[in-house]
Amino acid sequence: MQMKRKTIIIICLMGLLIPATIAQQKPLVYILATGGTIAGVGASETSSGYNAGVVSVDKIITSVPEMLKLAEIKGEQVVNVPSQDITVNDWLIIAGRVNELLARQDVTAVVITHGTDTMEETAYFLNLVIKSDKPVILVGSMRPSTALSADGPMNVYDAVAVAVDSSSVGKGVMIVMDDKICSADDALKMMTTSLETFHCPNYGYLGYVYDSKPIYTRNPVKKHTIHSEFSIEDMVALPRVDIVYGYAGVDSLFVTTAVDNGVKGIVYAGVGNGNPNTQNLNALARAVKKGIPVVRAARTPIGPITQYDELNDDKYGFSASWFKSPEKARILLMFALTKTKDYKEMQRMFLEY
Ligand code: GLU
Repeated sequence: MQMKRKTIIIICLMGLLIPATIAQQKPLVYILATGGTIAGVGASETSSGYNAGVVSVDKIITSVPEMLKLAEIKGEQVVNVPSQDITVNDWLIIAGRVNELLARQDVTAVVITHGTDTMEETAYFLNLVIKSDKPVILVGSMRPSTALSADGPMNVYDAVAVAVDSSSVGKGVMIVMDDKICSADDALKMMTTSLETFHCPNYGYLGYVYDSKPIYTRNPVKKHTIHSEFSIEDMVALPRVDIVYGYAGVDSLFVTTAVDNGVKGIVYAGVGNGNPNTQNLNALARAVKKGIPVVRAARTPIGPITQYDELNDDKYGFSASWFKSPEKARILLMFALTKTKDYKEMQRMFLEY
């Protein structure tokens, strides 16, 4: 009788322990919150006005309980800003925390909630300095949590679903929104208000999310994460790089002001195939002679900014950004400057990353 009771107790204990063990086997995903519309609250379900960055990371997690079936989720608020206010210092904080978390064996992936305005910049920064091939997914929303058309819950759910899928390993930093998966190197916010805002205009989407699963149609084409030569270790700041925008009749005021104020590198967002007008071409050539590297990018959103086209970059010591938008060219130039000032070596980097 005594024996039977013992056996029953052991079986009961096992019944309690086994589900607990299975629960522990769920992948561990950290959600790092940084602010943005995804944490926004509006005045009503139908109004377009709202305050970004009001909802806590815990509220974001509890409002999508379905994702707890996919993973054990832990949340952290790393910064809390509308993403137009994000700074290089914030990027260093976010990247440092992602590297710390992904170095842990028990962490499967990191999802970062972020405002959409500069999401592609944060994603590209991380793509250059995260030292892990585990998935890092940025996600946001175009509508606040209170809107009838709130897209945050589904987007976060999809981001976690992509993050825990083994096919997402080694794909670099990605943006998941509106059922689509973009690589950090190509993602571009193209619509001001529509849910379908992120496009990958040069190489196309990496894939799609369907029925809680990522369906990849291609791999990223540029170097990233564990293959990157750049690092934020011991870094407290990055060299200042400014972007100057080209338009009909622009004079060289902005280039000369940047040079006179100690800028360390200039990205010129030229017209067409990254063309500066004559005044700015001369000002940029003077900048190079003063030891300030210049990268030609373009305000034209799609297509490569090619060397040796209308303008021979070798003649001036410029580098061409190829498929990098001016914003991403700025980030790559900041990191390039931590290694070299040689325009040919920089050109290599712009072709590889
Ligand atoms: N401007 C805000 C931001 O980027 C809100 C836009 C958004 O998140 O979609 O954080």
